[in-house]
Amino acid sequence: MTTTPCHAFLGLGSNKGESERLLAVARDRIARIPQTTLVAASSVYRTQPQLYADQPWFWNQVVRVQTALSPGELLAATQTIEAELGRNRRQEERFGPRTMDIDILMFGDLQVQDEVLTIPHPRLVERAFMLVPLLELEPQAILPDGTVLREALDHLSYTWSNDQIWQAN
Ligand code: AMP
Repeated sequence: MTTTPCHAFLGLGSNKGESERLLAVARDRIARIPQTTLVAASSVYRTQPQLYADQPWFWNQVVRVQTALSPGELLAATQTIEAELGRNRRQEERFGPRTMDIDILMFGDLQVQDEVLTIPHPRLVERAFMLVPLLELEPQAILPDGTVLREALDHLSYTWSNDQIWQAN
């Protein structure tokens, strides 16, 4: 399905392997997704792991793309990139270490809820490591349900300094 070009935000995360290099490779691959342009990238942040504290800190970044793909087509493309960067879902724990995780955080004003996709990403408003870089790119970001993301971040218990983000569970 082809739709009118739409701005989407993707959240990238890695804490296994050469994470900083993997982020650069992921950005490069995202820029080459058909019918898609990489418009902007946030700073890279070092972030405290959520849920399982006993794992390396993550490297996180949010990118903005413009795409004529549907959300499902974009997900298929990002999952191909995850696999190319060494991700093997069957061998990893949920919320555990991974070479590359790419989440669709927002997709224009779309709201999607089906068996494969939930957009906006259901944990976006709980995660400083997604909100801080997204707000760097789009300070006035508002979800389709009217949630002001700056206010959602202000409700979280987190600390941020020198591109490091601490958020305990
Ligand atoms: P994870 O293991 O955290 O990368 O979860 C990946 C799975 O979450 C995928 O197989 C997707 O079907 C599903 N999913 C649901 N909503 C989203 C979203 N907004 N972005 C990426 N994956 C999603």
